Amino acid sequence: MSRLGVFVCHCGENIGATVDVTEVAERCKHMPGVAHAEDYKYLCSNPGQNKIKQAIEEHQLDGVVVAACSPRMHEPTFRRAVTDAGLNAYMCEVANLREHCSWVHEKADSTTEKAIDLVRLQVEKVKRNKPLDTIQVPITRSALVIGGGIAGIQAALDIADSGHKVIMVERSPALGGHMAQLSETFPTLDCSQCILTPRMVDVSRHPNITLLTYSEVEHVEGFIGNFKVAIRKRARMVDEDLCTGCGECLQKCPTKNVADSFNEGLSMRRAIYVPFAQAVPNIPVIDTENCRKFQGKKCDRCAKACPTKAIKFDQKDQIINVEVGAIVVATGYQVMGTERFPEYGYGTYPDVITGLQFERYASASGPTQGVIKRPSDGKEPETVVFLACSGSRDAAKGVKYCSKICCMYTAKHAMLLKHKNHHAKAYVFYMDIRSAGKNYDEFVRRAIEEDGVKYIRGRVSRIYEEDGKLIVKGADTLLGGEPVEIKADMVVLASAALPNHGQGELAQKLHVGTDPYGFVAEAHPKLRPVETTSAGIFLAGACQSPRDIPETVGQASAAAAKVTALLSRSHLAREPLVAEVNRKPAPQFSDCTGCLLCETACPYQAIGHEEIKDRNGNVLKTVAKINPGLCQGCGTCVSLCRTKAIDLHGYSNEQIFAEIMSL
Ligand SMILES: Cc1cc2nc3c(=O)[nH]c(=O)nc-3n(C[C@H](O)[C@H](O)[C@H](O)COP(=O)(O)OP(=O)(O)OC[C@H]3O[C@@H](n4cnc5c(N)ncnc54)[C@H](O)[C@@H]3O)c2cc1C
Repeated sequence: MSRLGVFVCHCGENIGATVDVTEVAERCKHMPGVAHAEDYKYLCSNPGQNKIKQAIEEHQLDGVVVAACSPRMHEPTFRRAVTDAGLNAYMCEVANLREHCSWVHEKADSTTEKAIDLVRLQVEKVKRNKPLDTIQVPITRSALVIGGGIAGIQAALDIADSGHKVIMVERSPALGGHMAQLSETFPTLDCSQCILTPRMVDVSRHPNITLLTYSEVEHVEGFIGNFKVAIRKRARMVDEDLCTGCGECLQKCPTKNVADSFNEGLSMRRAIYVPFAQAVPNIPVIDTENCRKFQGKKCDRCAKACPTKAIKFDQKDQIINVEVGAIVVATGYQVMGTERFPEYGYGTYPDVITGLQFERYASASGPTQGVIKRPSDGKEPETVVFLACSGSRDAAKGVKYCSKICCMYTAKHAMLLKHKNHHAKAYVFYMDIRSAGKNYDEFVRRAIEEDGVKYIRGRVSRIYEEDGKLIVKGADTLLGGEPVEIKADMVVLASAALPNHGQGELAQKLHVGTDPYGFVAEAHPKLRPVETTSAGIFLAGACQSPRDIPETVGQASAAAAKVTALLSRSHLAREPLVAEVNRKPAPQFSDCTGCLLCETACPYQAIGHEEIKDRNGNVLKTVAKINPGLCQGCGTCVSLCRTKAIDLHGYSNEQIFAEIMSL
C-alpha cells in the first residue's frame, strides 16, 4: 500500500487566482493511497521544498505528487528535493495545474474539479512508479569537425587547446574555405590570408588535431558521446608522407587549361595542382578528370619529375573509421549561380562578374596580383557598377532571406576599387543598407562618402553591351523611380549565399534538421543557437545561415565550448525513461516474437536485435534489443508491439491505463 504525499502550489496568483487550491489539497487527502496533502504559496521556493522534505520524513511517504506549474519548469527542482529526503527521484510526479488548467480556464468550480482530476491522474501513476536510476553512458573524449573553413578551424583549435583530440575533415584539398579566397576583410580591411594562414598552420601542427583533407564523411552511427564515423579519404595520387611540397611536378604537367576554381574560373591551372600558394597542406592533388594519364593517354611527367617518388597513380580511396563523442558541423555556404538572372548578362558578357571573382582580382594572391582588371581585355575598369541583393530578398527569382554579408562586402568592394584606382568611379545599386555590427555602419558610411562612389537606391532591370561598354539600366527610387543609365566597364553581382552543395545529404547522414532553405537548423533559435536537433552534434558558421567572419568565429568558439563541456566528463547521465524489451524470466522467454517492426519504426535508430542461443550455439529466437543510450523514450515501439513485449519506463501500459480508469 502506497503512502503518497500531495503538495499543491498556488504559484502566487498564477494558480491561486483561478483554482481553489485549498479545496484541491483537502479533496486529495481522501484519495486512496494518499497519506498527506497540503497547499503552499510557492513550492519551488526553499521553504516550499523544505516542506516537502519534512513531510516525507514525518509521514514516511514513499511517493510524491507536486501539483504546480509545467514539469518543464520545476520537475528537476522537486526531484532534487525528494532525493534529499531519501526517496528515488522518479517517485515524484508533477501535475501541471498552471498551463493545463489555471491559465486556460476561468475561475469556476469546474476549474477546481479539473485540477483535482489532474492530481488524481498523477496519484494513480506514481502509485505504480518504480525507482529508476539515471543511465550512465561513457563518453569518447574526442571530437569530429566537418569543414575546414574559418568556422571549423576556430572550433578545432579551441577544442584541441582544451586538451581533447580532434579529427578535422575537409572535402577540398586544402583548409581555408571562402576566407582563403578573400582579399581584405571588412570592417578593418586587414588582409584575409595574413590572418587566416597562421591559423591554418596551427591546425596542421597541433598535436591534438588529425587533419584529413580531400575527405568526406561517408557514414555516421551512434549517439551523443559515442559516434562511429566512417570517413572517405579520397586518393590524391600523391603520397602525403613522401611529398615535400617542392612543386617540381606542377611545372612539368602538360595540361594547363583547367579552370581554376580557387580563382573562380578567372585563371587556368594544371591537372596536378596545389589550390593556392599558402595551401595547408602544401601537397598537390591530381585532378583525374583532366589528367592525361587517367584519360588513357601516355603521360607520367609529374612522376618522373618528383624527386621523392611521391606520385602514386595507383593510390585508392581509403575508408577511415573513427569514434568521437561530439561532432561540429562547419560546412559553410556557396554563392548562388547567376544563371537565374539572364537580364544581368552573367555568362554572356565577360565583364559581369560575381563578388567572389572581384575578391580574387583584388587579392594579391589572385590571377592579376591584386590589380583589378576587366576579364574581356585585361584593362583596368574606370567605371564599375555593384549590384547588392543579386538574388537575396527576391522571393520571385532568388531567395526570400537577406544574405547579411552583401551590403558590407559591396561597400568594401567600392572602397577597394577606389584604393587601387583613385580615378575609378563606383556606383552601388541597393534596396536598403543593412550594416548592423560593431563599426559596420561607420564602414559603409566611409564608402558612401568616398569621392567617386555613388549609392543609388533602386534596382537594375537590364544590362546589355553597346560599343564595348556595359549599359546598366535601372531606376532611382529615391527620385520617384527616375530612370538611371550608366555606361560601365564592369559589373559586380553580390550573389545570395546558399547552403553549401551536399549539405542536405550530410544532414541526413547526421540526422540533423535543416531549415526551409536547407541550412542546418539550430535546436532553439534563441536559447540553443549552436546545438542541432541531434544531441552531441553542434554547428558553427555559415552552414547555419549566411554570416560574416566575426560572427562565425564567435559561434565556432561557442560550439567548441559546448563540445569541451561535454568531453570533460567521463560519463553522461541520461534520463532512464527509455523503452525496454521484456526478457524475464530469461531472454528466451521474452514476449518478443522477433517481428522487428519496432526496429524499422524507431526514429532514433535505437533498436537492433540479438539472437538468443542455447549452450551449443543453436539460435533459440531473435529478439529486439534497445540501446538505452540512443532511445529518446518516444514510445513509438511500444504502440507498435503486437505482443506488448516492450514497456516504456515511467510510462508503462499499466500506468497509462490506471490514469485513464481513474477518470
Ligand atoms: C564576396 C564575399 C566577400 C566577403 N567578405 C567578407 C569580409 O570582408 N569580412 C567578413 O567578415 N566576411 C566576409 N565574407 C563572408 C565569409 O566568407 C564567411 O563569413 C566565412 O567564409 C564563413 O566561414 P565558414 O567556415 O562558415 O564557411 P566556408 O568559408 O564556406 O567554409 C566551409 C568549409 O567547409 C568545407 N565543406 C563543405 N562541405 C563539406 C563536407 N560535406 N565535408 C567536409 N568539408 C566540407 C568547404 O570545403 C569549406 O572549406 C565574404 C563573403 C563573400 C561571398
